[in-house]
Amino acid sequence: MTSDTSLQTLANNPSCMDDYDPNAMHVAKAREYIQQLLNPVSEAETLLLHDSLGRVLAADITSPANVPNYDNSAMDGYALKTSDIATPRLKVVGTAFAGKAFDGTVSDGQCVRIMTGAAMPAGTDTVVVQEKTVTDGEFINISEAPKPQANVRYAGEDLKLGQNVLSRGHLMRPADLGLIASLGIAEVQAYRKLKVAFFSTGDELVGLGHPLKTGQVYDSNRYTLFGMLTRLGVEVIDMGAIADDPIQLEATLLNATQQADVVITSGGVSVGEADYMKLLLAKHGQVMFWKVSMKPGRPLAYGKVGNAHYFGLPGNPVAVMVTFYQFVRDALLRLMGQSTPVPLPMFSVQCTQAIKKLTGRTEFQRGILFTDTDGVWRVKPTGAQGSALLSSMSLANCFIVLDDTVGNLDAGATVQVQMLDGII
Ligand code: AMP
Ligand code: MG
Repeated sequence: MTSDTSLQTLANNPSCMDDYDPNAMHVAKAREYIQQLLNPVSEAETLLLHDSLGRVLAADITSPANVPNYDNSAMDGYALKTSDIATPRLKVVGTAFAGKAFDGTVSDGQCVRIMTGAAMPAGTDTVVVQEKTVTDGEFINISEAPKPQANVRYAGEDLKLGQNVLSRGHLMRPADLGLIASLGIAEVQAYRKLKVAFFSTGDELVGLGHPLKTGQVYDSNRYTLFGMLTRLGVEVIDMGAIADDPIQLEATLLNATQQADVVITSGGVSVGEADYMKLLLAKHGQVMFWKVSMKPGRPLAYGKVGNAHYFGLPGNPVAVMVTFYQFVRDALLRLMGQSTPVPLPMFSVQCTQAIKKLTGRTEFQRGILFTDTDGVWRVKPTGAQGSALLSSMSLANCFIVLDDTVGNLDAGATVQVQMLDGII
């Protein structure tokens, strides 16, 4: 559970600051601190299996039966006894279909024609595949003897009775729906959806459908946030774009914290603003303001306001997305009840162009992973890397993650890339 004391300790803890810059925190440290303060949803609900896709299991699933439930053939062919595997000619005494078993007896020197998925006739334990046989009236001649117990799927081979199948905290994926259906289970216990409210701040923001005057911009952050949050499967509460006005900001902030488990704002947390958000957060919550040694996305606020977790993201459109992927995504997955969220995949790949980079901060440049002319996957930057250039995010399918120690790079250097979409 979060306590005011732990937040206060973190806010005052000088070890959270980078060595070379007393005001900047390392990306990994910021992530670590956020993780310590998360208290996931605990309320569960019963869902029909279909409705559980993308939800997090609130209880373990234990197998109520063996899967498969009976020994059955993995191939079309003939079922026989191990003692007959070397017999070159067998009499066919019947046929076993999937869903229609052969219930006669099979004596020595005999076999049963069998289809994939059909129950193995009593006494048989091996299947010779059809391709290795030639029919001759009531008999088959076997051209290549099968190995003992070949081509049979045994009861419990997939899942055993009483076995833990999926654990509490597991995010439900398409395969899991099928797996649970294969057990005959029609309903599951899942954590309730996480509620996430968000709003934009800034006098310059204009909603869609209104003409722009000089000095105004359309509020794009609420759209990227909507997209990223919806993909995570949370319940989104869009609270609109709020002017830099303390009364309106206070009302919206309090309204949001009463409705939602998490509140996300964009803009208004950098230095030199009409700094109302900072004053409001100091008045109503325990919030830490970090300068993270990263680009884009240096200013970041994190803490609690009432019972809600709060993330104050920068205003610049690319910085919003970068800070969301780097800090908010993982935190939300944990708050949704996932025990071990799968991180965005990271791997090394060659970059085909030179990169400009200052040491001393982590940069998340926008990149495009592509198949090069030799068929090898490589990455190239999207072009100009300004924090306001949302087109760079739209072009990108990955971040090129350049850590603090990395400086300028020549074309052909190996870089770390982080995929924007997960692997699940
Ligand atoms: P701020 O963090 O409030 O100083 O904003 C930094 C930059 O991001 C400014 O150029 C803002 O105009 C821009 N910005 C802030 N919020 C939004 C938004 N919701 N949509 C588009 N641009 C924004
Ligand atoms: Mg602003």
